[in-house]
Amino acid sequence: MTPLSRRQLLRIAASSALLPHPKPVLAASKPRVLVIGAGVAGLTAARTLQSAGHPVTVLEAATRIGGRVHTDRSLFGGLPIELGAQFIHGKRNDAGIENPIWTQARSQNWPTTPFSADSGALFRNGLPLSTKEEDKVYSLVSDAYEWMIDVHKEQLENSQTTVSLLSAFEAFSRQRKLSNTRRLDLRASLAAEIEGDLADDLSRISLLAFDEDEEFAVGGDQMILGGYDQLPAHLATGLDIRLSKRIHRIEHARTPSRVFTQDGSVFESEKLLITVPLGVLRSNTITFSPILPPAKRGAISRMRMGAFTKVILQFPNRFWPDGNWFTNIIPKAPWGLSFSSMETPHPGSNILIAWQSGSRARALESQTNAQVLSIVMSDLRATFPSQTLPDPAQLHVTRWSLNPLTLGAYSFPTVGSPRQDINRLAAPVGSHLFFAGEATSADYPGTVHGAWLSGERAATEIINSPAS
Ligand SMILES: Cc1cc2nc3c(=O)[nH]c(=O)nc-3n(C[C@H](O)[C@H](O)[C@H](O)COP(=O)(O)OP(=O)(O)OC[C@H]3O[C@@H](n4cnc5c(N)ncnc54)[C@H](O)[C@@H]3O)c2cc1C
Repeated sequence: MTPLSRRQLLRIAASSALLPHPKPVLAASKPRVLVIGAGVAGLTAARTLQSAGHPVTVLEAATRIGGRVHTDRSLFGGLPIELGAQFIHGKRNDAGIENPIWTQARSQNWPTTPFSADSGALFRNGLPLSTKEEDKVYSLVSDAYEWMIDVHKEQLENSQTTVSLLSAFEAFSRQRKLSNTRRLDLRASLAAEIEGDLADDLSRISLLAFDEDEEFAVGGDQMILGGYDQLPAHLATGLDIRLSKRIHRIEHARTPSRVFTQDGSVFESEKLLITVPLGVLRSNTITFSPILPPAKRGAISRMRMGAFTKVILQFPNRFWPDGNWFTNIIPKAPWGLSFSSMETPHPGSNILIAWQSGSRARALESQTNAQVLSIVMSDLRATFPSQTLPDPAQLHVTRWSLNPLTLGAYSFPTVGSPRQDINRLAAPVGSHLFFAGEATSADYPGTVHGAWLSGERAATEIINSPAS
């Protein structure tokens, strides 16, 4: 099958974002499709397939749709709080092509607000940095990025998959002969920025992360004010979705393939689209008979899910500065947490979110809420040493790494996994077994738009595939 170019995919995505709701299928002339997983990838694919005339059923293990798009309205006085995806990352790219999630939000008239990453504040050991000092830190970070991308990555050429960002950072610090304070400023800033973005430790992230030249850089981060879950809810309209159907076995030796769920149901279809997270594929809780081809098993074993934890706290009053983000640089691991204030989307809510990633996130998730609270409060006290901080009235800790239906936050370019692994994960098996989900998106892994585009890609593959 000819792989679709990214431009073709974006064109398909942009047009499908404006499609009418899928019509119910009257005549089953086209092959039946079972879609496993009702996250954004599965729902986007199901919608496109149903619009193209395929009878489609979506099987979802959880009791809700949306997967890693999960808006909670029960914990913080009814406010829509994002436990999973929070931002539409950018409106369009430099060529003017729109992020399909932004297209969707615009066409549905969902109110949004920009959530600028620039309006942050840096502290070092509890002392706010002067604007001049902040500028120095930011310019050091951008120098380091430039050097890692333009010099170091070039020098390393093909060995990039085996080189971690940590060793690149150390090489930069040596090459520039950074003072200890500058070195630690840089390390802590990379912890906040790169580890936060890619959800793992610098030592596990490959230098290939800087191949990420495909992004919707124009417009910055946006939040959907009424909740990100409007996206899956809208995509799901008119689809046949069965909840609480956890797949544990897939038999695909002959047509139709058979899918077995933990509650004893069996479903059959000519085409099967698997969109469960990489973490679930890695856990081997779904048995494939026959087993998946070696190339795909190899990719699954090399690729990794990152960990990313949000600790959401509501205080009786606000004690932090204006702006969306603040970070207290602590010059030793764990480097200090990054916090985002929810005042922009929810003024007066006094909600703060502490963000933690990688091994520190995994460690956090395995602790009790009381232990997590004490860690976060001690970080906050170190950031605002001259204030007496109130106790939070409400606390929620996300635990995506422990959720058996996710087993991690999202995929990231890991040391030892070449770029081709993403394509191996995405590749169909025969003309009956197809794969989508953020981890199969070579250009936009770890994002909602990556999940959307992967769903579009897989739906197109199914539509164009020979009858199996
Ligand atoms: C904390 C956090 C913050 C994030 N922030 C952002 C952000 O700001 N912006 C952004 O663009 N992206 C963000 N992301 C990433 C984004 O949420 C994901 O990339 C995207 O939602 C993945 O969609 P998906 O359809 O590939 O997978 P999922 O949404 O995980 O869908 C897969 C579905 O498969 C189901 N499933 C699993 N196992 C089985 C089984 N055995 N049988 C049947 N069903 C099964 C799951 O329950 C799930 O519903 C964030 C993610 C996390 C965790």
